[in-house]
Amino acid sequence: MTEIIDGEAVASEIRDGLSDAIATLAEEGVTPGLATVLMSDDPASETYVSMKQQDCEEVGIDGIHVELSPDAPAEQLYETVEELNEDETVHGILVQMPVVDHVDTRRVLRTVAPRKDVDGFHPENVGRLVAGDARFKPCTPHGIQKLLAAYDVETEGAEAVVVGRSDIVGKPMANLLIQKSAVGNATTTVCHSRTEDLAAHTRRADIVVAAAGVPEMIDGTMLKEGATVVDVGINRVDADTEKGYELVGDVEQASAREVAGKITPVPGGVGPMTRAMLLWNTVKAAGEQTGVNVELP
Ligand code: NAP
Repeated sequence: MTEIIDGEAVASEIRDGLSDAIATLAEEGVTPGLATVLMSDDPASETYVSMKQQDCEEVGIDGIHVELSPDAPAEQLYETVEELNEDETVHGILVQMPVVDHVDTRRVLRTVAPRKDVDGFHPENVGRLVAGDARFKPCTPHGIQKLLAAYDVETEGAEAVVVGRSDIVGKPMANLLIQKSAVGNATTTVCHSRTEDLAAHTRRADIVVAAAGVPEMIDGTMLKEGATVVDVGINRVDADTEKGYELVGDVEQASAREVAGKITPVPGGVGPMTRAMLLWNTVKAAGEQTGVNVELP
């Protein structure tokens, strides 16, 4: 029987642990603050930001939201971030990506103060992650690492295959899997759109992390018996539902479940963990910036 990895349950445990850490901060008069900044004309981005704000409210993090007109000059965004860098009540800053085309994304990422960069995308924080001295691990791969640990998936010595090489999922995931650590030490292959014979790689993997953004591209025939399958994909496909679509992952779940030992569902797998780890990074940031020792879950 394939075991379903319950991301909602693990995320809920993490949020409970964070509540304790937030209570410790409160005893010292500190309330963690997360600023979200939106400069986009994409309605999905607006939804993501409001979900993040709602998550903050539920655990007792102060949410500050700044929304800039998509037509505003790019300088306004850089200046907003600089002001938030100086604001002592703000411990974490998240600029919702993608930003509008006339903004230089790399400049935005460089402008966020590294100590407040709870997405973990500033070059300094990317470098620290690669060097094995992470300050903030990007939320999705960090959440996956927590899921694997919660379900006793042995990474040490395992063959891991990451499908996708994006800066937010694939690359940091591979970097975490190869770290010399109890939750790393995997022999890791990164596949992408130019990989020849993807199935040859996924079939020898003990752990497959599918993050390509291609609906149901990995099916049971591409998996090794007993493999752990982490389905990161969130893809909208047309369906005969009220909304006219449904969400599917990058894994064809029905056939994969006939082969996999453990698998994350979509939704309810990686998604809730990504959200929880943003809160985790914010609480960590608040502890570090105020000198209060907090125990993180
Ligand atoms: P992305 O930036 O579009 O990157 C996709 C990666 O997959 C690229 O490296 C691409 O290769 C590779 N790829 C595309 N088609 C492929 C194929 N046929 N075979 C092998 N590799 C292929 O996407 P992303 O931001 O990493 O996100 C990936 C998926 O995860 C999306 O569905 C996204 O919605 C989802 N996501 C979910 C969460 C969550 O919390 N659950 C968080 C973030 C993202 P090239 O580099 O060669 O183009």
